[in-house]
Amino acid sequence: MSSSLIVTCPHCHRKNRIPTEKLAGEGKCGACKDTLFAAKPIDLNNNTFDAHASADLPLVVDFWAPWCGPCLQFAPVFTQMAAELEPQIRLAKVDTEAQAQLASRFGIRSIPTLIIFRQGKEIARMSGALPPAQFKQWVQQSLPKAS
Ligand SMILES: [Zn+2]
Repeated sequence: MSSSLIVTCPHCHRKNRIPTEKLAGEGKCGACKDTLFAAKPIDLNNNTFDAHASADLPLVVDFWAPWCGPCLQFAPVFTQMAAELEPQIRLAKVDTEAQAQLASRFGIRSIPTLIIFRQGKEIARMSGALPPAQFKQWVQQSLPKAS
């Protein structure tokens, strides 16, 4: 029996069911035919957030703001991590200034705050920016062992 998982398209935000063995960086969306992975974090807003947070693919969200120095310093690290962790994990960003509704829904009190979501549930949360090695360690420790 082969297993499959739900991956949300970063372009049209439709859900795609992908056989686990075909989970690779070059997958295409069945709806818009664009690539399912772009090796960079995707910007989410109130309308697109849930389609990604509810997917089977773990979603790591960087809650940030344009006026936050540590957030801006962390941005290139986060982008680099997207290139390294896709397609096993999706990385996304939420601008807490523009998306105040999402910030209050998740009780974001300090930024940057990193939250990992899977199938609609928050599974881990971390406040503050992390160096690349620690970031990866935190993500891997927080997720159930991938087979
Ligand atoms: Zn699409």
